Amino acid sequence: MTAFWTEADYDDHELVQLVRDPKSGLTAIIALHSTHLGPGAGGTRFWHYPDPKDAIRDALRLSRGMSYKNAMAGLPMGGGKAVILADAAKGKSPEMLAAFADAVEALNGQYVTAEDVGISEADMALVAERTQYVSGLPNSDAAAAGGDPGPFTAMGIYHGIRAAVRHKLGKDSVAGVHVAIQGTGSVGGGVARLLAKDGARLTLSDIHRDRVEELARELDAETCASDAVMGVTCDVFSPNALGAVLDDDGIARLDCAVVAGGANNQLARAHHGQLLAERGILYAPDYVINAGGIISVTLEYLSRREGKDCDINEVRKRLAQIPGRLEEIWTESDISGVSPDQVADRMAQKLIGR
Ligand code: NAD
Repeated sequence: MTAFWTEADYDDHELVQLVRDPKSGLTAIIALHSTHLGPGAGGTRFWHYPDPKDAIRDALRLSRGMSYKNAMAGLPMGGGKAVILADAAKGKSPEMLAAFADAVEALNGQYVTAEDVGISEADMALVAERTQYVSGLPNSDAAAAGGDPGPFTAMGIYHGIRAAVRHKLGKDSVAGVHVAIQGTGSVGGGVARLLAKDGARLTLSDIHRDRVEELARELDAETCASDAVMGVTCDVFSPNALGAVLDDDGIARLDCAVVAGGANNQLARAHHGQLLAERGILYAPDYVINAGGIISVTLEYLSRREGKDCDINEVRKRLAQIPGRLEEIWTESDISGVSPDQVADRMAQKLIGR
């Protein structure tokens, strides 16, 4: 038997809890990486892990990622994450979610959950019936903070791309700048619309051909096959679909000056950030540029706990701070020769007292 704290992804996590409820069939892991800056905040993932060890690894890795993301977003929150181990035979049940909610409530606010892959807004609404420690609840007003984080994430990325274009290409506007977008879902579609308004030249790709063609018509953009987008000659490649696209092969195919997009965990391995830097490509660390959604849902959560409405202007103000944070990272990287992803990690570690 191998102890989980000997795993490479174990990073002095403050708490790793197994939650079992035989009645409902729930098996879940709640991991709190750091509560140095506040309660550990991060979503709950519902996923089928053929090997339970992968569930532990996911919880460890993702909760550390949330510590870094929340710290770099300037939020008074630490990092946490939960995974519910889906049974191949059985789906989610309300009883399972209720048992999970009770476990979150029993942590007394040390962990604040939200949606993640495999968990819908409706699931989170069920969880919220039994625990107060939930952020990102469904919101009837699309323009208000909280609710669907996608549009806020897209806005932060748009700000980040503009900053990258300024830093790398010396341009104050994205008008005429060619951006190739991988994935035109909630985040990528939003980024495309914001860039199109500014007159950027867009090449869009998505495995859903209908979706991408429709958006291309709306924005007067070009499209390309989803397996060709990483080789498009452009100024900015914006990954907004899958993680780990920046691997040896992907980086070798890139023909761009900047990589800036919302997908989580874009670098396949730690050394791929250095590889990008060696190719002269400016990288916007994913957890810094894609923090718009977490900023929105966290401010909504904190306001609700104080019995106040969330001030949307405060959310906008914090989104507008993303470029400054990126600029700080790139300047430090230019001076030190350390790649931007490593600079960001060091800054985040310092913020969480590590
Ligand atoms: P989404 O499901 O709405 O969109 C993802 C899109 O990518 C879909 O349209 C899908 O068809 C497409 N896609 C999948 N594989 C592809 C491929 N190989 N090539 C091209 N397109 C492909 O998801 P989303 O909410 O837009 O999230 C996108 C990414 O951003 C994910 O990595 C997610 O983890 C990350 N992210 C999202 C948020 C948020 O607020 N939604 C916040 C932070 C990070």
